[in-house]
Amino acid sequence: MQKKYLISFVFLLASTVTTSCYRENLKSKSFVQAVEVKTIDKKASVAPDKTSSRSIQVKATLDKNAVLNQEFFYSANLQYSSIYDKHDDLYTQSLAQGLIPVHFRIAGNELDLIADNRDQFPSDVNHPERLISRFQILSQTDTTLTISEGNSSVYLAGIANSDSKGVGPANLKATETSTMISPQEHWVRSFEFAAEGQYLLQESSVDIGTDQIVEFMEAIFPRENMKASDSFKVYQMNPDSPAGGTEGYVARYRFLNTDRIFNGESKLAFAEHFDLPSEQATIDWYVTPNIPDEDLAPVGLAVEGWNRYFRNFKAMHRDILKFKGRLPQGIHLGDPRYNVINWDSRLVAGAAYESQSYDPSNGKQANAIIYMPAAWIKIGMDYWANGEFSEIGEAQAAAQSRSSRLKSVCFRDMHEAAAYLASGKLRVRSEEDLKNFGIELLKQTLFHEVGHALGLAHNFKGSLSYKPNDSSSIFSTSIMDYNDFEIERVAFEKIDSSSGPQLEYDRQALSVLYNNAQDVASSDPVLPTCNDAEADNEAGGVDPLCTRYDIEHDPSASILTAVNRIYQSSLPADVRHDITLSEAILQIPKTILSAQTLANIKTKSDFEHLVQKISSSLDGALNYYLSTGRSSLGYATRTNLKMLYKFGGQALPSDYDPQIMRERVYSGVTEILKLNTLPAGVLSALSKAVETSLEAVKLTPYLSALETSESNQVLVDQQDKMNAHVQSFSKDQKLGLPAMRTKMLTAMARHPAVPFFFGKFDKTQVDYEMLILIQLSDVLTAKDRTSTERLAAAKSLASFSGRKLGDDVIAKAVLSLSAERDASDNSDSRDLAESLLKALSSPVESTANLLLTN
Ligand SMILES: [Zn+2]
Repeated sequence: MQKKYLISFVFLLASTVTTSCYRENLKSKSFVQAVEVKTIDKKASVAPDKTSSRSIQVKATLDKNAVLNQEFFYSANLQYSSIYDKHDDLYTQSLAQGLIPVHFRIAGNELDLIADNRDQFPSDVNHPERLISRFQILSQTDTTLTISEGNSSVYLAGIANSDSKGVGPANLKATETSTMISPQEHWVRSFEFAAEGQYLLQESSVDIGTDQIVEFMEAIFPRENMKASDSFKVYQMNPDSPAGGTEGYVARYRFLNTDRIFNGESKLAFAEHFDLPSEQATIDWYVTPNIPDEDLAPVGLAVEGWNRYFRNFKAMHRDILKFKGRLPQGIHLGDPRYNVINWDSRLVAGAAYESQSYDPSNGKQANAIIYMPAAWIKIGMDYWANGEFSEIGEAQAAAQSRSSRLKSVCFRDMHEAAAYLASGKLRVRSEEDLKNFGIELLKQTLFHEVGHALGLAHNFKGSLSYKPNDSSSIFSTSIMDYNDFEIERVAFEKIDSSSGPQLEYDRQALSVLYNNAQDVASSDPVLPTCNDAEADNEAGGVDPLCTRYDIEHDPSASILTAVNRIYQSSLPADVRHDITLSEAILQIPKTILSAQTLANIKTKSDFEHLVQKISSSLDGALNYYLSTGRSSLGYATRTNLKMLYKFGGQALPSDYDPQIMRERVYSGVTEILKLNTLPAGVLSALSKAVETSLEAVKLTPYLSALETSESNQVLVDQQDKMNAHVQSFSKDQKLGLPAMRTKMLTAMARHPAVPFFFGKFDKTQVDYEMLILIQLSDVLTAKDRTSTERLAAAKSLASFSGRKLGDDVIAKAVLSLSAERDASDNSDSRDLAESLLKALSSPVESTANLLLTN
């Protein structure tokens, strides 16, 4: 530590020659009167398009009375970091951390910024305070304090290690769960005071060790700034209720709620939203300056898409959202006065999300930040053009097993969109259409994220209103559902317009937050809704209709649709314009093999690369339809598996039949477990696609240059190779049918909190626990199953240990496996039997099935 200090001191002396220096005199009424800034060093930067930042030294003169006798808010918004989050394939960045009530206190030769944490504890007496930042006092008089820049490095490193807000590096968490990351070094990059509103703004960087840097925008401003206007409606919510409330608007709609605070013994939370203090007030949005010109327009249209509601609101009739383009020069990401879309130009980014800062005592929002990867718009043009989709299945599997770190914010999964394109499911007719899909995807995603910024939580029941056979039916009553990306394209009338349909749930919820519910008539329907907490809720049983990514009136119908897509050659024409797996497979050659692509195939290696690309794209389609896509048979069955559990809460609406729903899901389970070969129609589509592809590649310069006999031989060889490749899908344990079955078997483990349904339908007794146990034991004891499947079945079966029925089935399986071991005639088969027996006898806490499929 000592050494480090000395080194930087030398640096300081050496670099004073080149410092830039400015001095600013401010109004005497302000708590800050003058600021002097000196550049002392150059440091690393992790902001995109920037390799270094300056390190500065500050001398600021404060008004002692204003500083010590006033309440302030402190906010620290994460700007950028070098923390790579491999689950979400992005660099953790742009996260608002909320506003913390703070005050200043002199302690010796330091001015300390303290959070008294009064609102975090039920007791008025016992509320351990927290030191946020320390400023050195350089000199003082009776009325002034002259201080250095602030050092909040311990607090900021703590945020970087925090579980609750999700900034923490996942890779560090695994090994250092109990130890706090301590800051290795910190430096201040900028220090400014905005006289209007008295915002003290400091940009800080903290080196948290292991080569990781986090960059924050810190702000301190009078609490008075956040005073709500008369028109701001405070909605109190219940932090203990998954829905957010049990009566009134907070029960009818799903709002984002503030972190709970205490008011005496009672716990409180509030609906987060912006204040519109005057009749001219707008909610302004900016984007980071690195956005290319051509992407500005769609960003603006998406933000202003919400004006479609405000324009129709009673006594309002005006645009509330204004997109103002790039952030003004000198304004930094994370400034609490600005709502900013952080445009990430890198093409590694698996998700988009939103976060916001608010006054914890009433929910009034200061600012919101949206993380928006350019990859969403490039997906059509670059991702598809490169055809790099073969690994998507795995990438998506990783995304599914992520922790719930970003639970409080949104997670729109880009892998799904990429896989969607890869699958051939999108009805791409031209380059133009592909380009448009990218732009629409961006608009839809941003539209959804701005919905969060306005205070709306997810509503996974929006799609229950969807009736594909009715041409007047719209995809959802809410953009806050996770909708099917292609069906959601109608959220905007035209690609160059912000207009679109009025989604009824969103319209009502928005009126409650921003127009005192004047636009919710007593005759308006009360629409079904549920948020993330309810989708994962287990207390007393599950809600079978609260499902992410479904696009059906009855989510269990998605299993039937998925089966039809696999077995049929075409689907009945309806508003979904859905296509089957066979049709998608036949689309792949023509979308990959453009004239341009073919013209570029000049060498043997180009040719082999192209053939490889076609094969992996065909794999992509199979995977997407069978196992990994959100509408695949595997995913639809896994996510609906909770329909086999005990239902909780209220009775199902009368147009739902729990017996049919459960039977459908169970038939999905058995369908998957017996799916050992690809259906004949799919196989024939695959060989046809191979044939068409090879017909097309004949025209490449590489093949044309060969002798006819040589060229024919190459084609015959390739045809055999490609056919063998696609047929291996039935056996591929990592990506193919065995992988699909293994995932299903894993999801069949007993849920620790919710039992499988056991009861009567009409007069028939149904016991899904028994049926699941039989399925698991059948797979476990079948020697013709792959070892991975058998092991997954053993683990899931072991989770039933301690239940009478489970113990009986396990005992029988042990006998059978022991006999198999004794009868084995080689070490491999004996080891397999041993490992299955071991898995059976070591019951682990079953993974929560509901979370697995999120
Ligand atoms: Zn969301």
